[in-house]
Parts: sequence; C-alpha cells; structure tokens
Amino acid sequence: MPEAHHLEARRQSLILQASVDLGRRIVGLCCDALLAVTYPHGCVLCGASVEARADWPACAECWDAAPIFAVDDALCTKCGVKLQGQNVGWCRHCSAEEFTAARAVGLYDGALRAAVLELKSAPKLGARLAELLVAVARREPLCHATRVVPVPLHAERQRERGFNQAAVIARAIGKRLALPVDETSLVRPVHTAAHRSLMDAHARRTSVEKAFAVVAPRLVHRERILLVDDVLTTGATASAAARALLDAGAEVVHVLTIARAAFSAR
Ligand SMILES: [Zn+2]
Ligand SMILES: [Zn+2]
Repeated sequence: MPEAHHLEARRQSLILQASVDLGRRIVGLCCDALLAVTYPHGCVLCGASVEARADWPACAECWDAAPIFAVDDALCTKCGVKLQGQNVGWCRHCSAEEFTAARAVGLYDGALRAAVLELKSAPKLGARLAELLVAVARREPLCHATRVVPVPLHAERQRERGFNQAAVIARAIGKRLALPVDETSLVRPVHTAAHRSLMDAHARRTSVEKAFAVVAPRLVHRERILLVDDVLTTGATASAAARALLDAGAEVVHVLTIARAAFSAR
C-alpha cells in the first residue's frame, strides 16, 4: 500500500511538472502574440503587425528599409556624417565641434526617426535598436569608452516628460557593454528655450553653450566618455555637453545617437 501511494504521488508530480512546462511554453508563445494587444496600432510607420517585441516600434520590413549606416560606409571620422563625393575622411564642416567624435546608427528617417519620436513618449527601447546602438559602440572610435553618460534634460523638462530619453538609451547600452552608466555627474542647470526649431543654428548654439555643468569632476576625470543622446541635429547640444566634460578632465568624449541629420549644420 505505501508502494502504491508512492507511485501515485510520483505520477501526480510528473503530471504537475508536465503542465508547468506546457504552461511556460504557452506563455512564451503568447508573449509575441500579445504584442497585438499591447501595441494595437502595429508598426508606427506602415501599420503592419509587429511580430517580434524586439522590433518595436517598427515592423521587420520597415527596419530592413531603415537608413542604417553600413559598416563600410564612408563617414566623417569626426562627426560621423556620411561623406559625399570627393571628401575623404573628413567632412570639413565639423572642426569647431567640441566632442572628440560622433557616431549614429543611421539617418533621422524611417524606422530610426520613428524610434526617436516613440522614445519621447514612452521610456523603453526595443532590443533590435539597442543591439544596433551597441554594434556602433563596439566599433572604432567609440569602442574604448570607460563610462556612459546620457545628455541630461533640465529638471523642469524632465518633470514634464517624466523621464530622460537619453538615460533610457544609456542604460540599455551600459548594461549590454558592461560599462558604468553615470546619470549624475553631468547636469543641465540652464533651461534653454523650448521653441528651438524657431531658432537658426547660430542662436541655438549660443543658447545651449553654457547649459551644462559637471558636478562630480572626479568621476569623469581621465575617463573616456560615451555621451549618449537620441538624435544629433546641429551638434550644438552634444558639443556643449562635451565641452563641460572635457573641462572637467575627461580624456575623450565620443557621442552616440540613434540618428543624425544628413548634413553637417555648419
Ligand atoms: Zn512597418
Ligand atoms: Zn564631420
């Protein structure tokens, strides 16, 4: 009788284990299917369903069509703009930029533009985009970074938005590269004008020039900083933030963004 009891207990335990395994498999299969419920609008560009969570906010086809720089594209060694025509190595427009070098995953268009805009309303970064960023960070000249620093928002701006999109990117990259993410050393005590699109490049540059400060210089001293932001447009913001970090003793400041403008602003 104890033997029969033991066998019955064993049988029930196996049934239980099998149903737990089955449950896990169903949950796994349902996760991507649930995407349709979580993201009812599908791909933000074409409306097709986004079949893998990693691809959010665009579908696989829109990612395939995204203006992502290829490894062998000729980029300006300093600002990372895609070079046209006869310029070799340097675009000739970025000598005044304060950062050591800047690189982006690609141009501000298609899935990359969609991802930048989406990141302004929700603090999450799809795994596909995170991996694209990490691939750029692992290439020269960014691959020697020792510390990841997001471009900070002014406190008031961050309160309005609820989060800093650059910090969301910095955390995703820092985790994958196993680098420390420093969200406190660089601050933005000066609130720059909200309607920046109404200003010309020069006014924008002047308004942001003194916007940044380093509150913990010993944390950035002699560090090779990977300065992270969502998009590089005129380069004025990245330049001003880089100046503050270099003045505080950083060895180099490399800028990494999701996207960049097609041309240098000056
Ligand atoms: Zn699409
Ligand atoms: Zn350049």
